[in-house]
This record gives sequence, C-alpha cells and structure tokens, in this order.
Amino acid sequence: MPLIDKFGRAITDLRISVTDRCNYKCVYCRTGNDGALYSDLPFSDYLRMCRVLVNLGITKIRITGGEPLLRRGVVDFVRELRKLVHAEALDIALTTNGHLLADLAQPLKDAELNRVTVSMDAVDPDRFARITRVPAGFDNVLSGIRAAREAGLWPLKVNCVLMRGFNHDQIVAFGKFAREEGVIVRFIEFMPLEEDRVWSPGIVVTLDEILQRMAEFKPLVEIPHARSETARRYRFVDGIGEIGIIAPVSHPFCGHCSRIRITSDGKIRTCLFSIWDHDLYGLMSRGASDEELEQFIRDVVHRKEERHHIGEPDFVPASRTMVHIGG
Ligand code: SAM
Repeated sequence: MPLIDKFGRAITDLRISVTDRCNYKCVYCRTGNDGALYSDLPFSDYLRMCRVLVNLGITKIRITGGEPLLRRGVVDFVRELRKLVHAEALDIALTTNGHLLADLAQPLKDAELNRVTVSMDAVDPDRFARITRVPAGFDNVLSGIRAAREAGLWPLKVNCVLMRGFNHDQIVAFGKFAREEGVIVRFIEFMPLEEDRVWSPGIVVTLDEILQRMAEFKPLVEIPHARSETARRYRFVDGIGEIGIIAPVSHPFCGHCSRIRITSDGKIRTCLFSIWDHDLYGLMSRGASDEELEQFIRDVVHRKEERHHIGEPDFVPASRTMVHIGG
C-alpha cells in the first residue's frame, strides 16, 4: 500500500536534511548570526529511514539542508542510497548553495546522483554578496553550476528567491542567464519561513509580476506540467531557455502536494508550515522494528495538513525556520 493521506494525496516525494549548518546567511532565510543548531545524525540512520520510506512508495529523494555539501560523507551517502533501488525507480536529487559544488559535481555524478539544484539569488557579484552575506561566493557558485553541467547532472535548475528591495530587478538578468548558461532558472516566491521574521505580503514578488516583467524582455510560452509539479514552466518563444515559477504564496499548490520532509535530527514534517514534528529518530533509537517505523510513518502521513495559511488572519508561523527544516 502506498502512502496516502486523509485527503487522498499519495506521498511519493521525500526531502531529507543531512545538516542544518550552512555557510551562507541569506537574508530571506537566516539572521546574520550563527544561531543554535539541531544535531545531525549518522548517515546510517538517514539511510535506514530512506530504505523504510522507499519500501512505502517514495520514488524521489532530495538531499538538502542547511548546506548538504558541508557534510563529509555526502557522496558516499548518495552511493548507498542508489544501492537501495535502481535508477529508474528512484530519482535522487540534491539542493545546494553551490559554494563547494565545483569539486563535488563529478564525484556526485559518479555516485549516481541524478540531478542538482543550485540556489543563486543574483547574477552580479555585489548583489549576491549582499543577499548571502558572503563576500566572495559568487565565483564559486558559478563554477559549481558549470561543473554540474559538465558532469551531466541534468536537468540543472537554479533557484532564485526574489525579495522586493533586494533582487526584484534581477528578473530579466536571470532570463538572460537561463538562455546563456543552458540552465532552468526557477523563481520561488518568498515564504514566511525566515529567521528574521521580515516577511510581509508586500515583499513577495509574485508569479504574475515575474511573468509580466519577463515577457517585456521576451515572450514566453507555457509548458504543460504534471499536476504534482510545484513549478509552472515556461520557455522563451524562440525556443532558447526555460524558466519556472514556484508560487506557493500567490498560487498555492497544496492540493497536489506529494511531499514529506525529514529534518537533520530525524523528525518527520508533513508540511513546511507544520507546527509540530514527528520524532522518527526517537522511535528508531528506542529499538523499533522496520514494521513499527512503517506504521508510525503511515499514521503521521495520514494526518498531513490540508494546506498552508500564508497571508490569512489565522496564520500561525511554522515551528521551525527553513534552514532547520530543509528546503
Ligand atoms: N543550502 C541549500 C541551498 O542553498 O539550496 C539547501 C537548503 S535551502 C534552505 C533550500 C532552498 O530553500 C533554497 O533554494 C532557498 O532559496 C530556499 N529558501 C530558503 N528560505 C526561503 C524562504 N523564506 N522562502 C522561499 N524559499 C526559501
């Protein structure tokens, strides 16, 4: 029996955070300080969780963080994950800020990672530094993107969170970047999951605004997409370059959500905006069998939230911020 929640949504997609440490302090995610951390688990524990979940019908695993490439042994973890199931049955992806990717792209490909998504929020070095609060990261990230492309980690996506006042004027620059670098740029609407609690509806650059600005640069044609896909996809009318827009604020897609998350300290979260976690690791560390873990996961998934309430009067902030959940 696959994992199904009480609203009939099949859960096939797992995001697992392997650390909540990060070497960047992006303004839409973190404060400028280091802050407290949850503990990371040994990779063998994440592997067991993934094995149990794959047996329950998970077909996509995305490794994330914090910054997953800070974790020594992440390449071996990918190799072990791949041994669980052959490539056609399990899509393994990784989300990174790209800072350490140049040296790791080929080893990750050799370990049979399928795809990588790199976060990059400006295409000019000064603006990039202002957003990430890392003075000289831009060149590393660009080299990382190019190394991933050369290694064949494909399709290669570049995520950009737009914030009014920081990088809302980068839309066309990213359209050009997508065309020149042959990557899929995906704009993500800013969500209230940041440590600094600066979110307000006015800071969000919405799907409609992005489309309008991009179309002034060059007309776009929408690409049909699967209902479970979070991004709306567009190609430029001349066939060169693709962009996507993930619009959880202005166009929520909760009705088609197929995801759960595991935090770096082994808690299941059924929604980014959950106000509680479910302690899978606690159960494991008390000696639970695989069957007991399966039952626990089924029960937790059954109770998955129907939808988020961003921007509504009854909105309650999530119990963790993005860096400690794993985006
Ligand atoms: N360190 C990795 C990275 O930079 O991609 C992985 C973790 S990061 C939390 C995962 C994704 O979450 C990134 O693409 C980041 O841009 C996005 N993100 C973080 N905070 C966000 C927020 N408040 N709203 C929307 N997206 C956010």
